[in-house]
Order: sequence, then C-alpha cells, then structure tokens
Amino acid sequence: MRTVLYPGSFDPVTAGHMDIISRAAARFERVIIGVLRNPEKTTDAFSPAERLSLLRKAAAPYPNVEAAVFEGLLARAAEACGADGVLRGLRTAGDVESEFMMARLNRQMAGVETVFLAASPAVSHISASMVRQIGRLGGDLRGLVPENLLEEISDALAQRDWNGYR
Ligand code: ADP
Repeated sequence: MRTVLYPGSFDPVTAGHMDIISRAAARFERVIIGVLRNPEKTTDAFSPAERLSLLRKAAAPYPNVEAAVFEGLLARAAEACGADGVLRGLRTAGDVESEFMMARLNRQMAGVETVFLAASPAVSHISASMVRQIGRLGGDLRGLVPENLLEEISDALAQRDWNGYR
C-alpha cells in the first residue's frame, strides 16, 4: 500500500490526528487527508473549507501529505483520489467494533482495504468533540491541537455559537 486516504470529520484537527498523520507520512509514499461530511453529525463547529484550511496548515511540514474535501461514499472517495487503501486511527478498544464493521463494509462493497494505527498513549484521550467543548467554554487547548493553530482554533471556537457555524 503506497497511497492512503485518511478520512474523518476533523472538526477541528487535533493533536491526536497529527499523531496519526506524522506517523503515516513516514511510512507511506502519499497520505491524502479526506474531510468527509457525515450527514448524521449535526454538531459542526467549522465549515468543511475551514477544516481543510486548518489541516493544510497543520500538515505543511510533511511534503507527501495533502488534504481535500470529499462528498459521499468513502470507497468512491478512495477511488477518486487514487488511494489504494484507507487509514484510520484506533484510540481505544471501544473504537474497534465500529471501525472493523466499517472496514469490512468498505472491503465488501468496493474491495477497499483499511489499515489501522494505534494512537500513541499521550494523545489517545483527545477527541475533536472534547476540543470543541473545551474551546467553546474558553478552556486552554494547549497540547490538544497543533501548536501552530492554537490561537486560530481557540479564538474561532470561543466566538462560535452553540448551534453551528459562526
Ligand atoms: P470521525 O468522525 O470518524 O470520528 P475524526 O475526525 O474524529 O473522525 O477522526 C478521524 C480519524 O482519526 C479516525 O480514524 C479516528 O479514529 C482518528 N482519531 C481521532 N482522534 C484520535 C486520537 N486522539 N488519536 C489517534 N487517532 C485519532
């Protein structure tokens, strides 16, 4: 597997995502981060364009990492960007059940294989939903989001209302 699609909501990118991205960048020729909109999620803080902009800044140090927004089925997105597999991160045993079901479905539907990286212990407790909550309440996001985006994400979240985009 040379090119992987790393899909997610990334609302916003966290230090946990960067753990997976940096390790994948060292092991795969090309890593494509895919911002996929999940129609069942109604708690968005950042628009897809904003998430993409944050991801591109966070991934700037890695020349073989790029990011794009995709609509629709993951298997089609993988095909559209020329990825030969999907990459996902596993935080806890709780992630395994749903992740394995999704991986099996993508393999059955489109022959797409999924590879998993186990989250580093230092970041395995970080989730984008907790980052959104802490940021909206004006808490300190240091260590939870990429260092170079600390101010941008903190300021944006502190100004968001509770029901969607600014
Ligand atoms: P989702 O909407 O599927 O939860 P996310 O944007 O939250 O997508 O996460 C995208 C991917 O990053 C998933 O594979 C998820 O398991 C992984 N991930 C999220 N947080 C962490 C973390 N703290 N450590 C490692 N991987 C993570």
